[in-house]
Amino acid sequence: PPDVEALGRSTWTLLHTMAATYPERADTQQQSDMQGFLKLFSRLYPCWVCADDFKTWMAHPSGRNQPKLSGRKEFGWWMCEAHNEVNRKLGKKEFDCRFWEERWKTGWKD
Ligand code: FAD
Repeated sequence: PPDVEALGRSTWTLLHTMAATYPERADTQQQSDMQGFLKLFSRLYPCWVCADDFKTWMAHPSGRNQPKLSGRKEFGWWMCEAHNEVNRKLGKKEFDCRFWEERWKTGWKD
């Protein structure tokens, strides 16, 4: 079976990098492309319990966890919250989403 931890680290790199390069203002086509990607991702991610939980989280009946696709800031923040949901589930520390862009886009200022 896949190494769930190594797969997870690589996949978060892909997902946050996709958010970091998402348009500042996404048009309808870009939003629906990403919507489609996330939907398929949540069905195809090769850690099946991970994928199932992720799909269930996204589909919360309140609608509160639906992907926010209008632009980079909203999408990046949403991805950070999705990752934090997994962090909580696994008993890991939550990440302060205010630093999302520093971690995944602009680099840390020192
Ligand atoms: P990771 O959680 O992989 O994080 C990598 C780096 O991202 C961190 O070092 C940190 O710099 C940064 N980071 C951390 N949190 C955030 C955040 N909220 N926003 C932005 N950046 C952040 N594993 C399981 O055992 N069970 C599961 O059900 C499960 N579900 C998963 C669902 C998805 C969609 C994905 C992509 C992965 C899932 N994983 C699951 C894997 C798990 O999330 C971790 O990737 C794995 O445990 C390795 O953890 P890590 O501590 O190395 O850091």
